[in-house]
Order: sequence, then C-alpha cells, then structure tokens
Amino acid sequence: MGDDTLLKRINDAIQAFERGYWPIETDYERRVISLLMEARDELERLMPIILERQRQDAKWGEQNHADEWWHLIMGEEYGELAKALLELHFAYPGATQDHIRKELIETIAVGIAWLECMDRRRMSDG
Ligand SMILES: [Mg+2]
Repeated sequence: MGDDTLLKRINDAIQAFERGYWPIETDYERRVISLLMEARDELERLMPIILERQRQDAKWGEQNHADEWWHLIMGEEYGELAKALLELHFAYPGATQDHIRKELIETIAVGIAWLECMDRRRMSDG
C-alpha cells in the first residue's frame, strides 16, 4: 500500500523534471512526467483513505476474518456514518461535516481492509 512517503518521492521526481535537473527532451520523458503527475493526483486523492488504512493496521494489526465478520465490522462503521449524518441533520451540538467525512473515510478503509483480507485468502488458497 502506498503512503505519504511514496507521494513525497513522486513529488520529488516531478520537481526534478520541473527544475530541469532531469531535462525533458523526448516524447518518452514527457510521457513519464505525465504519468508521474497522474500518479501524484491519484495518490493525493486517495491519501486520506491510505492514511486511515495505516492507522487501522497500526491499531489492530493485520486482520483476517470471515466475510460475515467483515460485513459486521463495516456495518458498525456504516452505522457511525449514519449517526454522524443524523446528528448534523438534527443540529446536535458539536456535529460537523468533518465528522461525516471522517466516518465515511473509516467505512471505505474497512472495505479496503476486507478486500485485502479476501486477497490474502485467495493467495493462501492457491
Ligand atoms: Mg467510525
């Protein structure tokens, strides 16, 4: 899984092109810088989810569960998202759009953890 260190390395490479440390002279080099910029944009977009996945792994370690349990874990996160939405809708004290965003990121990250677990299972099943 990528992280902000990978993003930094990609940004460093783009800056090396932009500052002329790596001259852009060929179509191939133009395609490389274009790909790097696409990768940077994609990584920046996904960074909140990547960081949440890293936070989850640091907190819980690698998790391997049956799909039914993943469904319940994701359901718990989805429930927290629903609660945050309702609290904002009904103007609970302290309710914020940021809280909704946080719960949405956590829900998506659990879904990715579930996919990673499925992939590990598939690899070990051969
Ligand atoms: Mg949550």
